[in-house]
Amino acid sequence: MAKPFVQLKGVQKTYDGETLVVRDLNLEIQEGEFLTMLGPSGSGKTTTLMMLAGFETATQGEIFLDGKPINQLAPEDRNIGMVFQSYALFPHMTVAENVAFPLQVRGISKSVIGDRVKRALDMVGLKGFDERRPAQLSGGQQQRVAVARAMVFEPKLVLMDEPLSALDKQLREQMQYEIKQLHHRLGVTVVYVTHDQGEALTMSDRVAVFNNGVIQQLDTPERLYEQPANVFVASFIGENNKLYGKVVDHDNGTCLVKLEGGSTLKSKSVSAGSAGSPVMLSLRPERVVINPPPGTCDVMVQARVTDVTYLGDHLRVRMVAFGDQLIVVKVPNASQERVVGADNDVQIGWRVDDCHALDVMA
Ligand code: ADP
Repeated sequence: MAKPFVQLKGVQKTYDGETLVVRDLNLEIQEGEFLTMLGPSGSGKTTTLMMLAGFETATQGEIFLDGKPINQLAPEDRNIGMVFQSYALFPHMTVAENVAFPLQVRGISKSVIGDRVKRALDMVGLKGFDERRPAQLSGGQQQRVAVARAMVFEPKLVLMDEPLSALDKQLREQMQYEIKQLHHRLGVTVVYVTHDQGEALTMSDRVAVFNNGVIQQLDTPERLYEQPANVFVASFIGENNKLYGKVVDHDNGTCLVKLEGGSTLKSKSVSAGSAGSPVMLSLRPERVVINPPPGTCDVMVQARVTDVTYLGDHLRVRMVAFGDQLIVVKVPNASQERVVGADNDVQIGWRVDDCHALDVMA
């Protein structure tokens, strides 16, 4: 692997001298990468971002940018662009003055500034908005100004803290796409904070999933969803059917699990412990097939449909199996298959590879 562009080494942070809100964090980010820190509120994402920016100091550990230690460097000397949830624009300045600000503080000459500001506004689709004030712009437009201001001095690293969470869903999705495009075009390294898993999966090259100040898994969006490393990641990302039981036996990457209801199930062992250990089986709703054609599934189970909900692009079918275990199945609407209604008995099936056994204690 190439030399990391950003490196956090053994970083810890406590605000009160007692509780570690970031614990022994080791993270390497490559140049040009879009890395997202994802996790529930209070998991230490913003604190980590603020230590990178220089607004918070690490209690322990070292932070490197482009190979140089930056722990002692003031924020303004780190040459890092920042975009905040609240936009943080200067209300008394025009759009052009806001975007020009980082160039002025860097002592860039006036003639160059005008040109760079124009290009930056053009880049975020705000050509001709130079003379407006922030209050005369929509939320989305204000955030575009904030992005232009963060990029105008061509920093090699841009940090974004929940930049889209104040916007409505449609605009948020549009801006996700635009920021991703900008990242791609400029080749800048982006470290992005969000608690929205959809946003993280859509935008990132890699995602660091935080919980309790610890990175639970650092991986590509696809691997996070397909191969969650532990119960927390499996539960936090995407939807799961969760079945609890105990390991009976292991065999060549699979394990046999005795469910609480008494049935035994063969599953893929991701982190299942030795015989007798408690495990959670995670089974995505879209991987369960109703009345599967013969030979397509490894596991077949009898189930009773309790409820079918029409959701436009898919149907959500709730059923019970293994006694009183709830199983949710997502059926794509495109399949045109008639889904049987409530109170019918069906066969459901899945592949062993799609049912992941995760150690509950890990
Ligand atoms: P996240 O961004 O994942 O929501 P934060 O990094 O903001 O998490 O917070 C992590 C923990 O640190 C939380 O328990 C929060 O209350 C605490 N915390 C954050 N900032 C401060 C601060 N300035 N002073 C004291 N505690 C703080």
